[in-house]
Amino acid sequence: MDFSWTDDQHKLYTQARKFALDHLNAPIIPSGPIHPFPLEKWRQCGKFGLLGLTIPKPDGLGLDILTSALVFEAFGQECPDRGLLFAAGAHLFAATMPISEFGTDHLKKNVLSDLASGKKIAANAISEHQAGSDVLAIQMTADKTEGGYILNGEKSFVTNGPIADVVVVYAVTNPKAGYLGITGFAVESKEPGVELGKAFGKMGLNTTQGGYITFKD
Ligand SMILES: Cc1cc2nc3c(=O)[nH]c(=O)nc-3n(C[C@H](O)[C@H](O)[C@H](O)COP(=O)(O)OP(=O)(O)OC[C@H]3O[C@@H](n4cnc5c(N)ncnc54)[C@H](O)[C@@H]3O)c2cc1C
Repeated sequence: MDFSWTDDQHKLYTQARKFALDHLNAPIIPSGPIHPFPLEKWRQCGKFGLLGLTIPKPDGLGLDILTSALVFEAFGQECPDRGLLFAAGAHLFAATMPISEFGTDHLKKNVLSDLASGKKIAANAISEHQAGSDVLAIQMTADKTEGGYILNGEKSFVTNGPIADVVVVYAVTNPKAGYLGITGFAVESKEPGVELGKAFGKMGLNTTQGGYITFKD
């Protein structure tokens, strides 16, 4: 088997490096454990297509996962702001892709194009105070009602949480069914009862905004 990159992949890598060098190569000025989110640079990432690499055309670039990893590597070579790229990875791989792969047509029609372009920011909320590695210990609940579900619980360590427009959140829908009783929901953060916590300080990835999100009824 030939594992070498194709000419097209080499070309895309060079383009991605050049784009990142031209638009994202500014040094980060230290300003404590929480930096402001670099929204302008985020928009540039969206302009290139970084935020929708794996999302099918016409919303995203429709690339396979290896080529997408190559593009991320190219950005990593020229963009000193690792927090920005971490946020981009969380947005694309942990939130936008699940919507693209498993979301309803209605959901995809509503949000996918804005997520792939970076107009909207997505977050993935699984971890809870008592459930990190042990993800099956999550306690957040989703109770079925007529026309939807009522979500209650608190999520921790949510990358992009404080600035998210759309949150892919996991909750227990059937406690007796173990991992089969956990369901993912896409929730718009403007919904009443969704409270985005403030960004907390970290030792690195300082421009990544991570925080708690609470869901009340
Ligand atoms: C920068 C950052 C961004 C994050 N972003 C997100 C996000 O966007 N969304 C989200 O949902 N979560 C996010 N998380 C949370 C992350 O998923 C959890 O931190 C991770 O799952 C570990 O959980 P924990 O912190 O509760 O540690 P714990 O699960 O309490 O683990 C603590 C220690 O115990 C060890 N350990 C745990 N279980 C076992 C075992 N069975 N056997 C042996 N050792 C074990 C672990 O390796 C670790 O060293 C983020 C975390 C960080 C640091």
